[in-house]
Amino acid sequence: MKPSTRTTIVADSLIGRLNALSLEQKVRLLTGADFWALYAEPAAGLRRIVTSDGPAGVRGETWDERRASANVPSPTALGATWDVATVERVGRLLAGECRRKGVDVLLAPTVNLQRSPYGGRHFEVLSEDPLLTSRLGAEYVRGLQRQGVAACVKHFVANDSETERYTADMQVDERTLRELYLAPFEHIVREAGVWAVMAAYNKTNGATMSESRMLREVLHDEWGFDGVTMTDWFAGRSTDAAANAGLDLMMPGPESPWGDALVTAVRRGRVSAEAVDDKVLRLLRLAERVGALTGSAPVESATWSDAEIPGELRTVAAKGFVLLRNERRPHYGAGADRPVLPMSARHLTSVAVIGPNARSGRALGGGSAMVFPPYTVSPLDGLRAGLGPEVEVHYAAGVRAHTRMPPADIGTLLLPFSDGHGIEIRFLDADGATLASEHRMAAAYNWHGTFGDFDARRLSRVQARTRLRADEAGIYVIGGSGVGRFILDLDQKQVFDVVLTLPDGADPVEALMRAPQHGFAVDLAAGQVVDIVLTHEPPTSKVSFDSSMLAMQLNVEPPSLEDEEGIAQAVALAAAADAVVVVVGTNEEVESEGFDRESLALPGAQDELVRRVAGANPRTVVVVNSGAPVLMPWRNDVAAVLLTWFPGQEFGNALADVLLGSVEPGGRLPTTWPADERAPLPSTRPVDGAVVYTEGLHIGYRRFLRERVEPAYWFGHGLGYTHWTFGNAAVTSDGAFGATVVVPVTNSGERSGREVVQVYLERSGSSIDRPVRWLAGFATVDVLPGEKVDVRVEVAARAFEHWDVETVTHRWSAQDPVHYDVEAHSWALEPGPFQVHVARSAAAVVQTCTFDPGESAPDH
Ligand code: BGC
Repeated sequence: MKPSTRTTIVADSLIGRLNALSLEQKVRLLTGADFWALYAEPAAGLRRIVTSDGPAGVRGETWDERRASANVPSPTALGATWDVATVERVGRLLAGECRRKGVDVLLAPTVNLQRSPYGGRHFEVLSEDPLLTSRLGAEYVRGLQRQGVAACVKHFVANDSETERYTADMQVDERTLRELYLAPFEHIVREAGVWAVMAAYNKTNGATMSESRMLREVLHDEWGFDGVTMTDWFAGRSTDAAANAGLDLMMPGPESPWGDALVTAVRRGRVSAEAVDDKVLRLLRLAERVGALTGSAPVESATWSDAEIPGELRTVAAKGFVLLRNERRPHYGAGADRPVLPMSARHLTSVAVIGPNARSGRALGGGSAMVFPPYTVSPLDGLRAGLGPEVEVHYAAGVRAHTRMPPADIGTLLLPFSDGHGIEIRFLDADGATLASEHRMAAAYNWHGTFGDFDARRLSRVQARTRLRADEAGIYVIGGSGVGRFILDLDQKQVFDVVLTLPDGADPVEALMRAPQHGFAVDLAAGQVVDIVLTHEPPTSKVSFDSSMLAMQLNVEPPSLEDEEGIAQAVALAAAADAVVVVVGTNEEVESEGFDRESLALPGAQDELVRRVAGANPRTVVVVNSGAPVLMPWRNDVAAVLLTWFPGQEFGNALADVLLGSVEPGGRLPTTWPADERAPLPSTRPVDGAVVYTEGLHIGYRRFLRERVEPAYWFGHGLGYTHWTFGNAAVTSDGAFGATVVVPVTNSGERSGREVVQVYLERSGSSIDRPVRWLAGFATVDVLPGEKVDVRVEVAARAFEHWDVETVTHRWSAQDPVHYDVEAHSWALEPGPFQVHVARSAAAVVQTCTFDPGESAPDH
């Protein structure tokens, strides 16, 4: 990054502010003031800076339904757009959300790679490919930072799975680290000038990341990063090692291994005063950038009105939907065979909408990426609205996809002493006196020490009081989730008093995502009302991950059919309908921060549901609502398969747009979908505390290509509703060792369409280990029917380079006058020609040219 004149001028003024502070004042700034915010320092003209999680929305300092957040599609959905302009707009929209919620630093984007689909946070990262991740991640950052909001790119580096994430040592060879896992961070630091980086929990090659030499040697010295490096939450482990390694900020606070211990370390000379000054300057620079210093106004940023956000989110979601399959079937109207999608509302009389995710579509994955959207349009509601009143829509869940009791449905809960809906939460002291109360419209709660206007140290119990009105007769299971003691009273009678604990070795985030539960079954008549009082006593209050993140749920599991009965009901609806939409998928029990997946199969009996429904109706369209790949053993037996990922709050509306054809399903796979679990997929489970990346450079499509294993669907695959013809591509030098590929593309169908032109490189006969081919560039175009467009795809010089750890050169040093050999440890270009493939997926090459970057460069 070249320092701009502006930065230099600012730096002088920052030094003045720095010099106004004592050592104690400086060190105080280097640990969070609370869970999300940094300390203000009037002596430096510094106001409080607020951080908040993304990437699927901006949560803000509170985490509940009362301050809702616009829920943008999760990163795999953004990855599937392959569209830099769209992702930049999402960044801008999120910047507006940050302003609205008083947030200065968004803890996003997550640019680890999808090394394995078993990774619990797979949905939270963009792609399995480093180039696609780099380009889209950079646009997300630009969108935010152009509006004066900092991005904090995370988690640096190799936090590609969750199991034992606080301690696991990721053993990655140097070339793989550079070409794959560091590549998105490098691109985003150098090209997008990101203002903050989060150091991961894990170790990489033996060093815990908050103490890794890579912070200084790679981030600062090589890439010229001038922003703030913060820990992941509670990842700070040491005083001296972290301070000397180039870490700037310990989060959260106020407890941390720094504070007084760091002051002492400086006084005793174990950490230099210059190192502390450098950290404070970096913080002040961040503050200046986000407008948190006196006299530094934040950049004027555009705000998004409440009316604009839904339309934008609907468009972005549809751009990420990937149509994997679309077969011809007899048409319900005229009778002739035609692709089953788009559906024609005009000719339909009835549609069966089936599946557990149809009524409660999953808009986002679990963990710190969760926000509370103002609403989520379910697939069922979206389709009902899109199809209009003339088309009959019948719904059946078919099977259950959850194994846990869900938070109670607020629509069935009445306040204790009035007719309104909701739950009364009371905060009680040790004597049972009420310290404060809240009227809540959700049954899942997370508090980060923000309980209300009282001294949190007096809090002893939290009580949820409400009345459940049974919609239908049957067995209801009522209970609670969390860590600590739970007492349930139904109609003033105690039915249980239990202590719930996490299993040994569980990740603390599991207290939020899959906390232990306890329930009590009651048989209720339709319309019967039962009083509920759930009392929770958290473990003894102390400043720790557990208590500062107090979480609990009131759970109600309503009666449901056994799977076999549910499937029979769904099959009957399917057989009687013109067309069927089955919405299957995962949920936060399966895809979340804090744990990895145990299986790639759809949870519950969803596969059986799809098979039986497809057997009953040939026009069965399967919509898969998951953030990461799932197995689809029925994929060749259904008419169409559409992936929606976790598409955010406008899910159902975007789905109706795509199924009914007002919008093209614009996405392409950002990750390879395996056919089964025998596929070559790296394990995420540490062995003796280490995850060894033995597959090296070959993850995702690279591994399938190398091992000649056919996946279910390749990286880059995706269909639309029109047809394309590709003319002859031309490759020319960009004048700097890179290339420009121009591909004439014609929309030869009858509808407007969106195509993603992909360029891969290959090097036959290479002297080094290489992927069979690798993504080198891409471009997205919207083309009218009959129109021809010359699509330009830029291939940067870096795409031709590899990280060289083998070349040995002789050096001579004046200080130490001996000859010695060094390995290059730098980017290098293997001389000679590369094959340049224009392709529609990693396996569907349309045409091939050759290009020699060394020969074509002007100074050759
Ligand atoms: C996650 C981070 C997140 C932080 C704050 C950690 O558990 O790994 O991604 O930003 O919590 O919520």
